[in-house]
Amino acid sequence: EMANLYTAFVARCANPDKTFIKTQDGRRIRYREAFDLAGQIANVLKGNGVKPLDRVAVQVEKSAEALILYLACLRVGAIYLPLNTAYTLSELDYLIGDAEPRVVVCRPASHDAIQLLMARLPGSSVLTLGTQGSGSLMEAARTASTKIDAAPCGPDDVAAILYTSGTTGRSKGAMLTHRNLYSNAATLADAWRFTADDVLLHALPLFHTHGLFVATNIVLMAGASMILLPKFDPVVIREKLPQATVMMGVPTFYTRLLQEDWLDAKTVAHMRLFVSGSAPLLADTHREWSERTGHAILERYGMTETNMITSNPYSGSRIPGTVGAALPGIEVIVTAPQTGVPLPHGDVGMVEVRGPNVFKGYWRMPEKTEAELRSNGFFITGDLGKLDDNGVLSIVGRGKDLVITGGYNVYPKEVETQIDEIDGVIESAVIGVPHPDFGEGVTAIVVKAASCNLNENAIVQVLDSRLAKFKLPKRIIFVDELPRNTMGKVLKEALRAQYKSIYT
Ligand code: ATP
Ligand code: MG
Repeated sequence: EMANLYTAFVARCANPDKTFIKTQDGRRIRYREAFDLAGQIANVLKGNGVKPLDRVAVQVEKSAEALILYLACLRVGAIYLPLNTAYTLSELDYLIGDAEPRVVVCRPASHDAIQLLMARLPGSSVLTLGTQGSGSLMEAARTASTKIDAAPCGPDDVAAILYTSGTTGRSKGAMLTHRNLYSNAATLADAWRFTADDVLLHALPLFHTHGLFVATNIVLMAGASMILLPKFDPVVIREKLPQATVMMGVPTFYTRLLQEDWLDAKTVAHMRLFVSGSAPLLADTHREWSERTGHAILERYGMTETNMITSNPYSGSRIPGTVGAALPGIEVIVTAPQTGVPLPHGDVGMVEVRGPNVFKGYWRMPEKTEAELRSNGFFITGDLGKLDDNGVLSIVGRGKDLVITGGYNVYPKEVETQIDEIDGVIESAVIGVPHPDFGEGVTAIVVKAASCNLNENAIVQVLDSRLAKFKLPKRIIFVDELPRNTMGKVLKEALRAQYKSIYT
């Protein structure tokens, strides 16, 4: 294990002439070129006063240069802090105040506005990066030296702060160390049998753990190649798929590809692996994908704070609706939420995790860190799940989404699964909203097919024979689509807010 993750990546690269990144328009960047550019960018950062553990905040469109900027930050020992491109100026205002970055790299169009926000930080600067290598960062990098020593950091030094997706509230900055990232990338590259011959189809954002750490770090660990696409577009996926061996996606990638006529066993016969994560993959989607393509999607589970925790097996059966067993070197337990005492297999409880993958804490949120990170090293994930006798984990949902109605616990996923099985239903979200008699009322938000004339009564009738009375939705609301964030996660908090007064 090497302390600086960048040094580890360089050491892992057996052939510097190999292609690291291919862009959508066919540009090819070899490892050697990427490392050189990382050196040039590192020198620009250093020239702007960046020292080890200084934050470099980045809000840019996805591009090869943006990815190499991440490597440059590692190289100077700075803390890389990527920001969702959707964040507004007022969100940036908060994040900049919170993170106090030495440098912000932003889209050329937001330069002036961000410069104003940065005025409060003496000695800071704002650089720009456009999509085609434009902007002041690259302009300076082109004439900078490629040589710079990698900062000698310790394994427990923070390499990145990644903000959580904000599905359950305000995003939190998770501090991830060089060791956290190295150990998880090495474990995953091994578990999923990555080699230098792999070509990853990369259509995920670079500001989230899935696209940045899972996808990118594994490629670097294996000295493999990636096709870097600016965004997910089924037309482009079809065009690039023949050159790829692996695709990683969120569940919506798979449901959208299933709507494409061209998707069949022949078009994906050459593929080695399809991985899904970041949100629950419906067992139905898993089965449909297997039937259409002959490939069983490999579902894994993780989060910003912990990197990846469990994975279905590479060889062996990938069980739809489960997220697999703990990865090597990682412990997963399921505990009673009130007491923290481990529960017998089969019981639903709080998922807790311990291992070299678990983060150092939330940036400048010591109380939150203390509340979620136990002194014995276990991190309380906030997800409810159950383990079977073979250590295979199933995620039941988030603790915050649990509905308590008339004193009974209702797990939304159980009700959603039953609703989704009804003909004509596309998907559903079950939430609890304030109810004068029951505390919370089970409420189902349902998306049905355009042609289908299902009504509230028809659904309740079907459910009545399948679920205990207390689990039945008290109201069913039909909508055209469920609200989702960029990672494809259903925003139940938004639904709860929208329907909070329907029983009062
Ligand atoms: P926030 O913590 O800000 O509310 P978030 O938890 O959505 O947002 P992430 O760290 O991006 O932020 O997501 C991690 C969460 O995603 C997990 O805690 C889990 O709820 C969910 N998740 C990830 N992979 C899976 C999976 N395979 N199946 C079910 N849920 C998953
Ligand atoms: Mg979370």
